[in-house]
This record gives sequence, structure tokens and C-alpha cells, in this order.
Amino acid sequence: MEKITDQLSRRKFLLTASASALGSVVLKSCASTPTTTSASPTASPAAGGAPAANVSGGSGPETTTLRLGYIPIFESAPLIIAQEKGFFKKYGMTDVKVMKQASWGAARDNVEIGAAGGGIDGGQWQMPMPHLISEGLITKGKTKLPMYVLLQTSTHGNGIAIANKRADGTSHLGQGVGLDMSKARAHIDKLKATGTPFTAAYTFPAANQELWIRYWLGAGGINPDEDVKLIVVPAAQTVANMKSGSMDGFSTGDPWPYRILADQIGFMAALTEEIWPNHPEEYLAIRADWVDKNPNATKAVLKGVMEAQQWCDDPANSAELAKILSGREFINVAENILLPPLQGKYDMGDGKAAINDRMKGPLFWKDGKGSVSYPYKSHDMWFLAENIRWGMIPDTTDIKAIVDKVNREDIWKEAAKSLGVTDIPKETSRGVETFFDGTKFDSNDTTAYLKGLKVKKVKI
Ligand code: CA
Repeated sequence: MEKITDQLSRRKFLLTASASALGSVVLKSCASTPTTTSASPTASPAAGGAPAANVSGGSGPETTTLRLGYIPIFESAPLIIAQEKGFFKKYGMTDVKVMKQASWGAARDNVEIGAAGGGIDGGQWQMPMPHLISEGLITKGKTKLPMYVLLQTSTHGNGIAIANKRADGTSHLGQGVGLDMSKARAHIDKLKATGTPFTAAYTFPAANQELWIRYWLGAGGINPDEDVKLIVVPAAQTVANMKSGSMDGFSTGDPWPYRILADQIGFMAALTEEIWPNHPEEYLAIRADWVDKNPNATKAVLKGVMEAQQWCDDPANSAELAKILSGREFINVAENILLPPLQGKYDMGDGKAAINDRMKGPLFWKDGKGSVSYPYKSHDMWFLAENIRWGMIPDTTDIKAIVDKVNREDIWKEAAKSLGVTDIPKETSRGVETFFDGTKFDSNDTTAYLKGLKVKKVKI
């Protein structure tokens, strides 16, 4: 029987190949694809489409139409569920479509095009993509496209996967490749000496996946710019590259790490939950021009996503969540592969104990520190500080000014109040954060954080 990896690699390759060739044309065709099936037999009463009682009078949405991009990983679950379980409709947003993006680069291109041109108004993002797009740092012609960060979709559910062995037969097993990379120093140095250093991949530069790899290596005293090789690889090729031995590891979101173990081609060095418990992960951000023009619709959308997040976080819904996400138009991976990570079940491999703790898997509404959904400004500050750390943006960048422009936690709070959420965070900072290696981050003093780091590119 064909292995899951083979099926997935081919399917993902076809998707990526066709999408990258056709660009926004593919998006348009996606938009016209009828939404399936998965939700209709089991839809909640809300899915009937009747506007809820709390949409009334002058607070009604200015538009009922919105186009949101997503990448088929767990971070997109609240957007998919808000559509499939009728939570957007419940708050009067009767024409919201979530649209699969071929890659992070395609999502960026499509938000620049905008929904009017066949693209998207916003959607799911790695960080700090919305800030970099707003500042014109990763857009065509360096054009500034102001965006607003409105909500965090999820935490945890990401990890660093390592191949069992290289093409030449060199094994990574039993070499100390784990959470604390100082134990793998000899192995990393030996590979560097051979002329083909340890090579790890991520799918979009200067955002979560690259930042998790860099943090993990740096914490173990390994310089990601000198001791190893980091490369950008399309998500569809990561597993194939790992199988062929042309890549030693990659940083990725669930359910991909689980598959590496299921197919016995590699092991997990670390979960992001181990690197930084209750860390910030991915976010909902929408073009500022859309939000400014449609303030009530924005709040209606946020309420729909918040209710979806509560639904996703209820263990009683995990099996149905896996079933919906497994749909061909969504993650397109078998339910039995999606369910274990949703329950916090991870085989780690390489002699590491398996993990079985729901709070260590992807969480959508509550984590060990409180709200997942609320977009803390202090977390935006970390992503941008990390960009300074690795020389991705100049150290003179006023990152606080950028965060104050882009992060609209005030809109989140208004929507949450309107929804009746009682435990709304009072501060825009979650306070001092502590990483697995003991490093502390205080968003009020990013200079102290950068000065304290041993491995970095910035001269500070
Ligand atoms: Ca992620």
C-alpha cells in the first residue's frame, strides 16, 4: 500500500505546481468551488444563516462579504470552522469565504492584489508578516500595504523535525539532536567539517518557522549563520527532501511532524511548546483599508472566529474537527493522522518519551497563560525583535511604533465584550516571557534582551 507520505507529497506537489503557475487564477476558481459537505449534516443551529439577535440597528455590518486566505495547517482551523459551522453567518457575515493559498508567498501576493482584483482581503499569517507587509519590506516594489493584526488563531502545534539519516547514510539518531542542541555540538561540527553542513528548511523567510529554528539552534550555542545551512523549501517538498536525504530537518506545523514519525523517516527534535510554552504562533490580519471601511463587519468577523476558537478548543469536538479539516478542500489529510496531535499526542522518536498532554498540542482559545485569541502587543514585539537579532531588519527600526500601528487589540476587546467574553486581558503585554533555556524577554526592554543573547547577528 502506498504510504501516506507518498500520497501527500504527490498531492501537495500537484497543488503547489498548479497554483504557483496560475497565481490568482487558481484563487478565483477556488472561490467558485462550492463549499462542501463536511459541515452540512452536522452544522450547528447557527448555520441556518439567520442573523443573530446581537446584530442590530446601527451596529450591523457594512458589508457581508470578505475573502480570507489560509494555509492548510491547524493554525487555520478557527477560520475554516467559522465558515463550516456557520459562525460567520451567525453574526451577519453571510458571504465570508476562506480560500486555500498555495504558499505564504502566494498569500502575500494575493493580499496585495486584494479581493476586488481576485485576491484576498486578509487571512492567516505567520509573524511578523503583517508588519513587514505594512512597512513595504516584503511587497512588490516595496509598496506599503497597511494591515491590522486582529486576533491570534492558535498556539503550539509546531515543531522541528529531523531526518533519521542523510543520503550518504550518516545517522542523526543518537547524536543529541533534541531540545538542547548544545548536546549535538560534536555532531554539528563534524557535519560542517565534511563540507555539507546540517541543513534545515522553512517555508517563508523571517517568520515563525525560521525564527523557531534559529532560536532553537542559538539557545544551544549553534550559530545558524555559520555552523549550519538554512534554506527555504516549499512545504510540499519538505517531506520528499527529507526522505531523499538532501535536507536534514525542517520547521513546520502540525500535522506534518506527526507524519514524519508515522512514516518512520525521522524524529522530532523539539515541539515549539517545549521551546517556549504558550508561545505566540499565527494570527488573523486584514488589510487596514477593509477594516477602516467596515468596522462593524470586522467585529462581526472577530466574534465568529472567537466562537469558532471556543468550539475548536472543546475536546468533545476534536473528532469532528479532525473530520472537517481532513476534507479535500482543507488540510486534505486523513482524520486518523489529524486527530492525535489535536489531542496532544506526539511520538517524538530517537529515544525521547512520547507526549500525551492536550495542553501541549495546538490550542485555540485558552492556554496555560490565559487567552490564546487576544493579540498581545508584547508578542508582536518579540517577532520584530527577533528580526533585528538576525539582521533581517535594521537595528534602528522603531518596532514599537510599527506594533502600535499594526496591532489592533482594541478592536479585539470591543468584539470580545460584545460577545460576552468575561476574561479580557487588561494589559497589552503578557509580561516577562521565559524560554526553555532560561532566556527572558521583556517587551519593555528589547535592547536588554538583544544584549543578553549570546548567538546573534546584530551588533549590540
Ligand atoms: Ca505555524
